[in-house]
Amino acid sequence: GRSNGTDGVAVYDSQIFSKALKLISMELDLHNALINNEFFLVYQPVVDTKTRSITGFEALIRWKNSQGNIISPTKFIPLAEETGLILQLGEWVLFEACSTLAEWRKNNSLFNGLKVNVNLSARQLSDLELTDTVSRILEETNLPPECLRLEVTETMLMENPDYADITLRRLKALGVGICIDDFGTGYSSLMYLQQFPIGNLKIDRSFVADMEKNPANYEIVKAVVALAHALGLTVVAEGVEEEEQHIMLLEAGCDFSQGYLFSRPVSPQILPDLVSTMQHS
Ligand code: C2E
Ligand code: CA
Ligand code: CA
Ligand code: CA
Repeated sequence: GRSNGTDGVAVYDSQIFSKALKLISMELDLHNALINNEFFLVYQPVVDTKTRSITGFEALIRWKNSQGNIISPTKFIPLAEETGLILQLGEWVLFEACSTLAEWRKNNSLFNGLKVNVNLSARQLSDLELTDTVSRILEETNLPPECLRLEVTETMLMENPDYADITLRRLKALGVGICIDDFGTGYSSLMYLQQFPIGNLKIDRSFVADMEKNPANYEIVKAVVALAHALGLTVVAEGVEEEEQHIMLLEAGCDFSQGYLFSRPVSPQILPDLVSTMQHS
């Protein structure tokens, strides 16, 4: 506790000061990381639940800092979002993911029909230029729009539903798919689900994780699948780690699955070999 008013104020000031310094220095690091090419993408396969064959992958960002440590996106995406750097970073992710898939498609027929999912952040979704950016990147990389799927969360949609609706409609008109990420964890409205031009729901990993032990979670998963199908949407389960979970998802009629059971996120150097193994298994 504070012993007197003067001390209290001093402690408070220095805490704010050191917090601000830390933020500023991390912001500088992030900025330099972009210039120095310290970001890279890894790709996690999404499989057909019935056949286990690969249908596409999700691009996930990583940061290898100047000390050689790999930093998780959960550590730096919120800061990039706060500082606005996410717009540049998000554009880099989009370009990198689209050009990588376009390159693979050119060299390897196994990639025909595979899609890449890219995560958007809230600032990107509210960026007036998002559709133009996406459209330009698809043209520059020569990737067919239907090969790209953008993942947004319910919370992002509900921040400004009218505006999100307009943007998603523009993206859909381009031919790009929209997926709701982390479904079930956000502040969601079933009415909006029906209204937004969404093709795909991703059931959050927290429901999948203890489905075997927690019957209520399995009921939720089954209800989400039924709801999605009734609305004409397909469903992906994320975070599938156990064979038992896979069997339960199969019984629930869940269309697609993603998780360590099938594959961890892998580097683009490894992915072509992985795709050929997964398609021939
Ligand atoms: P997310 O979009 O929900 O991504 C799924 C996360 O679950 C990834 O963590 C993935 O590696 C992890 N995961 C996949 N399968 C399993 C599994 O079987 N078990 C467990 N325990 N985890 C699994 P990651 O790569 O650390 O990404 C964390 C979050 O960071 C993402 O959550 C997403 O919100 C954000 N993120 C990642 N890449 C990007 C990006 O390029 N842009 C933006 N805006 N956000 C990103
Ligand atoms: Ca995601
Ligand atoms: Ca997710
Ligand atoms: Ca998430």
